[in-house]
Amino acid sequence: MLLSSPSDTTSTSSSITPMIVTHSGQQLISIADISSAASMGVFYVHVEMAILDEFQDFCVLECSGCKQKKRTKDRKDFDCPKCNRKTSLVPRCSFQIDLIDNTATTTASISTELGEKLLSMIAEDIFDITCTKRQSLSLNRVHEMLSTKVFEIHLRKSSWSSSNTTTTTLSILSYMEKQHTPQSATDRTSKKIKPLEISEVEVMATTAAAAPSNAVGKFEPPTPTKKV
Ligand SMILES: [Zn+2]
Repeated sequence: MLLSSPSDTTSTSSSITPMIVTHSGQQLISIADISSAASMGVFYVHVEMAILDEFQDFCVLECSGCKQKKRTKDRKDFDCPKCNRKTSLVPRCSFQIDLIDNTATTTASISTELGEKLLSMIAEDIFDITCTKRQSLSLNRVHEMLSTKVFEIHLRKSSWSSSNTTTTTLSILSYMEKQHTPQSATDRTSKKIKPLEISEVEVMATTAAAAPSNAVGKFEPPTPTKKV
């Protein structure tokens, strides 16, 4: 299985060019194909999300006028060359999040309301913790929430060139928790659900099989009656 997958991805990446993305039948793409695809644009993926870098700032400061990101953590008023006046800086939630599917892992950026919603925090509080108090965010609850969910994510792949290097970035435009139960039970979705149920049964069966051996182990300690 694992050995055959690399050849699969190389063969599919060549046929990826005529990809159609529609709002009704969103064509999904794997993380491996996103990374290898030369084309820029908007993609849909079904992935798990994880915040692997817990020590990032989770926010940036931007000009309250033009919303341009500033390379500072100092929140004093400044003369914005773009706005051509003195403006204040406001924090904006922004961080790196890792997207994982069964093909690969990649890092994307998530910001503003989307990021705040994911962290259940507002940018002002995030700034206060990570930049003013210089502490790290406590993400235990976020990790826990993310670990059990699969998301449908609308991603934008873009790139820009400076001197000789081209930087490619992925940014999350929207995300939606993927429901385990289909909202509108069509034949197609109900068929897709069936294998999931089987795998859940298998998981339950293995845990059930493991339970008796634990129980036996627990019963053993009181038994050494030979000592008495
Ligand atoms: Zn400005």
